[in-house]
Amino acid sequence: LWPSDEDAIHEGIVSPVWGAPTPEKTAAFPRIPILGVTKASGEALRAALAQGPVRLRVHSRTDTGWRRVTLPVATVPGATPEYVLFSGHVDSWYLGATDNATGNVVTMEVARVMHAHRDRLRRGVRCAFWPGHSTGRYAGSSWYADQHWQDLYDHCVLHINCDSPGVQGATEYDPVTASAETADFGVALIKDLTGQSVGWERPVRAGDQSFWGAGVPSLFMGLSVRPKGQRWAVGGSGLAWWWHTEADTIDKVDPKVLHLDARIYLAAIYRFATEPVLPVRLEAAVAELDDAAAAISRDVDGRFDLAPVRDAVSRLRSAASAFDAAAAAFSVRSGAATDDRRLAAINRAHRDAVRALIQVGYTGGSPFDHDLAVPQLPLPALQEARDLGSLGPDTHETRLLHTRLIRQCNKVMHGLATAADALETALAVLKDG
Ligand SMILES: [Zn+2]
Repeated sequence: LWPSDEDAIHEGIVSPVWGAPTPEKTAAFPRIPILGVTKASGEALRAALAQGPVRLRVHSRTDTGWRRVTLPVATVPGATPEYVLFSGHVDSWYLGATDNATGNVVTMEVARVMHAHRDRLRRGVRCAFWPGHSTGRYAGSSWYADQHWQDLYDHCVLHINCDSPGVQGATEYDPVTASAETADFGVALIKDLTGQSVGWERPVRAGDQSFWGAGVPSLFMGLSVRPKGQRWAVGGSGLAWWWHTEADTIDKVDPKVLHLDARIYLAAIYRFATEPVLPVRLEAAVAELDDAAAAISRDVDGRFDLAPVRDAVSRLRSAASAFDAAAAAFSVRSGAATDDRRLAAINRAHRDAVRALIQVGYTGGSPFDHDLAVPQLPLPALQEARDLGSLGPDTHETRLLHTRLIRQCNKVMHGLATAADALETALAVLKDG
């Protein structure tokens, strides 16, 4: 039953399988037909059911299979092999003017402007159009992540996703979508360019966020939205009622909103492509993990020992705080050359720490696989510890889960230690001058 009452039927994906399936994932595909209806039709059905059995005839046809699709990528190279990934989905429901033709327009404009200023780029800008966003549940972006995993890990400093900019009436920017270490940057940029004071939220497990396994941080997804009172329960088009319907036509685009949204994306990409030290704050990401570990610990109430994880988070938090301060001080003093030894140490530590932080903060399973498209909390690998409360103290099921949790703890602690080592090593280099 659709939660908001627009007289429009929305198309959408219903499978939780992220990208092309692997043998063990096929069981997660839905086995029953799923149809969209309006809230009014759904309520009428529900009322009829309250009176007794209802017979309903449903016609549905599901089309599945392996398809060859086109995935255009264009790179404006920078002075180093590092790059910012700027992407948006190219497939749409019906005309898809605001979801996502406007996003594709912004992507092409970003490529044009970055190319015009290519002599100033320290890092490259890679623009990609993802196919299979809805029909393949991020099949394009996850294919790209699978094919280019090591390159993404080694060189991609940030993923900015561009979905549904420039929507009529979309004048608000609260909250900004960002992974924690980029949130301060995103909030300040919105303030600079729109005058609005906004909060931020962690990206949900949706919207072509296929790069967390490779440890790539994320900024923005959708951007401008309609004001409260003019929003519907939809997932794009600035929260307008025409999302994923036949009515998503070009008259729903506002060129002024599109222009401002494009400037925001451009400014963010340009700064990440040009600033010697990346404008991120690592301690913010560690703080999110710290809070998550504390919350799980509280709920688990002694059934599982999370003290080693919390100690590891604590060590990393001290290192991140000292490193952020040192990196910011270095950044203020220097117009550093790309071959500066201290700058290289800072950027290398940033990369190694951010990779581990994103993997620990955003992946429950293997970083070389893709978790299902279901709601996810920070520190997903350890969230299952909460289930111990509903199992008996010494049952077979408890031991099975306990075994998995030990392994998940090892993965998390390895990530935390890797990040702390990287930051402490860089701090030692910076101290030497
Ligand atoms: Zn979209």
